[in-house]
Amino acid sequence: MPISISIIQTGKIKCRPSMLQQPADRPIWLRRLHVLTDRSWAEPIPVQVFLISHPEGYILFDTGLSPHTKDRDYFPSWMPTFHLTSKFDINESQGIGVQLQEKGIEPKDLKAVVISHLHYDHSGGLPDLIDAPIFLLEGDYEAFKEPVHATFEGATPRQWPKNFHPSFLKESNSHIGPFEQSYPITADGRVVAVQTPGHVPSHCSLVVFAEDATYFLTGDATYSQEYLDNELTDGVNETPMQAIETLKKIKELARQMPLVILPAHDKNSPKRLQERVAYKPTAI
Ligand SMILES: [Zn+2]
Repeated sequence: MPISISIIQTGKIKCRPSMLQQPADRPIWLRRLHVLTDRSWAEPIPVQVFLISHPEGYILFDTGLSPHTKDRDYFPSWMPTFHLTSKFDINESQGIGVQLQEKGIEPKDLKAVVISHLHYDHSGGLPDLIDAPIFLLEGDYEAFKEPVHATFEGATPRQWPKNFHPSFLKESNSHIGPFEQSYPITADGRVVAVQTPGHVPSHCSLVVFAEDATYFLTGDATYSQEYLDNELTDGVNETPMQAIETLKKIKELARQMPLVILPAHDKNSPKRLQERVAYKPTAI
C-alpha cells in the first residue's frame, strides 16, 4: 500500500489581516497593538488537518478546530480577544472526530496524532482523540503548561481532556537538509517531524517521503506558500526573526529536493496535493 495524504477541513476562521501578516522588524508591542486595533477582516482561512495513510497505520497531523469554538463559554470570559479578533465558521459535523468516524476510522486505529503546536485551532479535536497516541515536541508542551500564560498565547488548556498526557517526539541523529534534527514517526523513516520554531517557540512540521512526491506539512510555520516564498511571517508571533529563519530553511530544503508544500491554513493546499505541484523557491 503506497503512502497517501488526505486533507480534512475542520471549518474556517475569519481574522484580522494584521494577524496573518506584519513586518518581521516591527517591535513586538507594536505588532500586538496593530492586532488589537485592527477593525478590518481578512478572507476566511481554512483550518486543515492531514491524514496520512502509511503501511504502519494512520497518522494524523493536527486535530483542527472544535465545533464548540462558537459557544459563548469555549474561551475564558477574562480573555475576550479570541472572539474580538476572530470569527468561527464550523458546524457539529465538521469536527475531526465525526469526520474520522465517517471514514470508518476510530481514534484507537491511529498509529499517531502529531500536534504541530497547541494553539486552539490545532488542538481543538483533542477531546475526540484522547484514545490515540498523541505526540508533540516537549518544548511546546512546556511552553503551554501554565494555563493562564497558555491562554494569553492562544491555547485553550481548559478544553484539553483531563487525562491529556502526550508523549514527546524523540529525536534521531539524522538531519534532513538544513534541519539538524529529525523526529521519526514511522519505523521506515518516511514520516518524520522537524523543528520549525517562530510561530511559537517550539513548533514542528512533518515531512512525508511518499512514493509519488515528498510533502512538507508546515503546520503554522507559514500560512501559505506565497508567504513562504516572500519570507513573510504572521502578526501574532513573538519571534518573527526566528520565524523567517525557519522559512529560509524550508526554502533551502526545497532547493535540495522537490517538495509539495502543504500549510494548514492555505486554501490552495488541496489543489497542490492533488496535482503534486512542487514548490520552486525564488531568491529574496
Ligand atoms: Zn493555526
